[in-house]
Amino acid sequence: MIALIGQAVFLVMEGQAAEKSTISSELEFDDLTIVCTDCEKDFVWTGGEQVFFRDKDLQNPPKRCKECKRAKNQRIAAIAQAQITGIKQKIEVSVKCAKCESTTTVPFYPSQGRPVYCRSCFLEMNGS
Ligand SMILES: [Zn+2]
Ligand SMILES: [Zn+2]
Repeated sequence: MIALIGQAVFLVMEGQAAEKSTISSELEFDDLTIVCTDCEKDFVWTGGEQVFFRDKDLQNPPKRCKECKRAKNQRIAAIAQAQITGIKQKIEVSVKCAKCESTTTVPFYPSQGRPVYCRSCFLEMNGS
């Protein structure tokens, strides 16, 4: 883990000194394991992607795995679309009910770590 942190710091410095750097080989970058901020699973930031980031002069390593990044982009796109059209998009997000574990769809994007309930469980909980 310490080795990984050291490498990340090195990468940032490398990015800042990109003009002087003549390194262009992908071999300079080892795969890094990063913990996704959304699903808290490890994902691999490959050497090739690190080269891409450096070439694009991007300073911040990715925080999310591919799936969560895609989900986030979809959220942003839906919000942007709603802002452009002024019409609230009819959103359907597939989620697993936290109570009965059946798959259901909800008309909103659930926050990370918050339980989501299907309609019947939701009504049941609010009715009692
Ligand atoms: Zn993730
Ligand atoms: Zn349920």
